[in-house]
Amino acid sequence: MKDHLVRILTNDGSLRAMAAVTTDLVEKICRRQGTDPTGTVALGRLITGAALMGSLLKGDQRLALMIEGNGPLSKLHAETDAEGHVRASIKVPVAGLPPKDNRFDVAGAIGRAGFLHVVKDLGLKEPYRGMVQLYSSEVAEDLAYYLTTSEQVPSTVALGVNLGLEAEVSAAGGFIVQAMPGGDESLIPLLEKRLATLPPTTALLKEGRGPVQILEQLLEGIPFSIKNETELSFRCSCSLKQVLGMLQGLGEDELQEMIAQQEATTITCEFCKQVYNLSKDDLKLLISTK
Ligand code: ZN
Repeated sequence: MKDHLVRILTNDGSLRAMAAVTTDLVEKICRRQGTDPTGTVALGRLITGAALMGSLLKGDQRLALMIEGNGPLSKLHAETDAEGHVRASIKVPVAGLPPKDNRFDVAGAIGRAGFLHVVKDLGLKEPYRGMVQLYSSEVAEDLAYYLTTSEQVPSTVALGVNLGLEAEVSAAGGFIVQAMPGGDESLIPLLEKRLATLPPTTALLKEGRGPVQILEQLLEGIPFSIKNETELSFRCSCSLKQVLGMLQGLGEDELQEMIAQQEATTITCEFCKQVYNLSKDDLKLLISTK
């Protein structure tokens, strides 16, 4: 099943939901980042959460989720746009933690203390910035806590990453269900009951069920219509032009120092790991064209 996401609205307007399959996306990104299994599950959840939240973007809008915790992974970052392009990075890819209660210790790897940052570039003068303290450090609950308290939209979030025997991503995906203002509030306790009995998203994905079927199972008996369906893919927006702009921003003094100290400058994109090599002459040109 190709990675994609769907966004739906129930016919009575009470609930909005997004669901996604992100298996290839998580595998591709985590392979580039060199994550260990716990790092893969942690970053995979954040990638899936960003992709789901991206379903509300339009045009050139962008969204980024960042988690900074006091655990070994240090900092995780996932970004997306309205077209379903996703990229992500992790500061320390290897958590090096043993499993806890037969599960990957994501909360331990992220750290129990820290913050979830949400940045939305909606094409306005300044990007919107939101931040909450980490709630459980399991990612899905942290995102639900942010959506419910900071954006004040009561939300349930499920994010899952399942690994195979070789630690490859065998299934990844998730969903967000949100109560719309003025909607039928009796639906929330009903959904919570259903959620408690619903198999994990990754188990449903492995049975071959896609985002729409997962939402059908979750919202059984509540009619809904699909508002948006988007393919998801890994894409990094970095370029030589961007790297040169960043270097120019360092200022002449710093560039002169770099020219004096090293034969060549190597810049590696934190997201796609593309390497940009710049000679002394490249740097000198930057100063002269300033
Ligand atoms: Zn890149």
